[in-house]
Amino acid sequence: MSSSPLAILRETFGYEQFRGPQQAIVEHVVAGGDALVLMPTGGGKSLCYQIPAIARQMNGQGITIVISPLIALMHDQVGALHEAGVSAAFLNSTLSFAEALDVERRLMRGDITMLYAAPERINTPRFLDQLDELLARGQLSLFAIDEVHCVSQWGHDFRPEYRALTVLHQRYASVPRIALTATADALTRADIVERLQLEDAQHFVSSFDRPNIRYTIVEKKEATQQLLRFIEREHDEDAGVVYCQSRKRVEEVAQTLCEHGINALPYHAGLDTKLRQTHQDRFLREEGIVMVATIAFGMGIDKPDVRFVAHLDMPKNIEGYYQETGRAGRDGLAADAWMVYGLQDVVNQRRMIDESPASEEFKQVMRGKLDALLGLAEATDCRRVRLLAYFGEKSAPCGNCDNCLEPPQVWDGTEAARKLLSTVYRIGQMSGIGFGAGHIMDILRGKTTDKVNQFNHSTLSTFGLGAEYSEVQLRGVLRQLIAIGAVAVDAAAYNTLCLTEGSRAVLKGEVPLMLRASVSGPAQGKPRREKSSAKSAAKSAVVAALDDSAQTRFAALKAWRAEVAREHNLPAYVIFHDATLAAIAAIDPRSLGDLEGVSGIGAKKLEAYGEAVLEVCTGAA
Ligand code: ADP
Ligand code: ZN
Repeated sequence: MSSSPLAILRETFGYEQFRGPQQAIVEHVVAGGDALVLMPTGGGKSLCYQIPAIARQMNGQGITIVISPLIALMHDQVGALHEAGVSAAFLNSTLSFAEALDVERRLMRGDITMLYAAPERINTPRFLDQLDELLARGQLSLFAIDEVHCVSQWGHDFRPEYRALTVLHQRYASVPRIALTATADALTRADIVERLQLEDAQHFVSSFDRPNIRYTIVEKKEATQQLLRFIEREHDEDAGVVYCQSRKRVEEVAQTLCEHGINALPYHAGLDTKLRQTHQDRFLREEGIVMVATIAFGMGIDKPDVRFVAHLDMPKNIEGYYQETGRAGRDGLAADAWMVYGLQDVVNQRRMIDESPASEEFKQVMRGKLDALLGLAEATDCRRVRLLAYFGEKSAPCGNCDNCLEPPQVWDGTEAARKLLSTVYRIGQMSGIGFGAGHIMDILRGKTTDKVNQFNHSTLSTFGLGAEYSEVQLRGVLRQLIAIGAVAVDAAAYNTLCLTEGSRAVLKGEVPLMLRASVSGPAQGKPRREKSSAKSAAKSAVVAALDDSAQTRFAALKAWRAEVAREHNLPAYVIFHDATLAAIAAIDPRSLGDLEGVSGIGAKKLEAYGEAVLEVCTGAA
């Protein structure tokens, strides 16, 4: 077999062409260059180091060490390589002593093309000795550093162990390195480069666009009910991920979904490790599971057919949001990123920053990042344009986000904002203490509540001055005011509102506030998709084109695949993707020759499964 990258792509992985910048990256690394690769989730990062690893091994340059924080996924990653006929192994704490010893022996014998290891392993004296010896023999070919944003505290997955990776360039300066991540704004990127001394590495920055993902952000009313409606309307029986901020919420939401007949599982760091692993395995191995999780879940999850990612609480920043939503639709088929957010999210996130023990400089950065996300949530124009702009990319309105599909009504909230702020001001003057958002809105709307009576607030000059505004409208105004820092929430004093430096300009009417008129998402307004749900839209792209007999073959192939996956203890998509099965079903193969060239069938899979696939197809006739 040839060691040319294209030959490996075709022979080993069964793909016809490189995608986007893959070829340039692979060639650069095969030739011994360092690389920093920024590519969105689903962009095809794995091949960027796997193909150089194989090519360099074939050229006699030895082993590639893949550094990854994802211990729980290494088994499946290595399993996927075995399926493609590549010799790979992993070293981590899940192995028994004897198993680890066996891997080490194979490593030193040169039997392994790719070794996956966690960063904490790299710095053990034992492992360093082994690397030293491989280096001395000229058999240390390449370091691939996956999820490299973990090295930066500005990234959202900071892992102190990643800092220790400085050993790579210090101790093994002659060994090329490829570092990869799906997330890195300019600040994080600069930090990665500095920490790992990648100044001389070539940077490959792909477009971050994920055109098949539809972004929707709706106002939070009753989050769980909104989620239920969203899933029932658009994602019946689909696999999805629901992110919540707290463990308690995760448990509650998972339970509610289950009570409504949705196959949901909880996942958070408070669950026993075994149970967490079981839930992750079920999500990967079974169809149509909804994982309700904290952000502890998801990094490195390469399940291709996640049809939606929902956020019930707002993440900390756009990187987090983009990384999490990016887990939808890796297969390129239609998928949804859906979020509900409300005033409380804004208040909570602000408070978490304010109360964190971090330095003021750090907090400032975090506030800036939060503001960018608030800007996205409040946006009345294309969400994608804003997302991509955040990553430094210019684009045109996408036609596949809520704002493009149904341009929101906007209203001028400038006057309402002035009235709100002056109420806050006057109340402070009159009572000498602050009050929360609810009370301020009651005063403005002229409601005589117990509290209003108690403090005699109906005598305020702004009492009833905003009677024309609904509470929802005023909440929107408040969110904006908090988002732009024109009002602050004092977490230490029962979330009372107080004026800030930024209030003055708004009070003077110098800051125009255009607000989205309230929409509450799929339950109201016209249906966002014609009759066809996201599910059928997604499925149809692969399957709808099949005629009846091909549908029968497709179903039979899926059943066969499930069996094989179970036997191999791997997720089904590691054996073959849906798209590959659909392509097989469509051509109705009669010989192994017919199967050659089907995307996703490499030489090893053809040899291992070709006959069985032919049998399934003829049997299904
Ligand atoms: P990432 O790690 O960037 O999120 P992956 O490496 O998991 O993405 O690739 C995403 C999907 O795209 C995988 O299922 C992979 O097999 C597929 N893929 C990658 N490169 C190609 C290619 N050149 N042709 C066809 N499919 C590809
Ligand atoms: Zn758009």
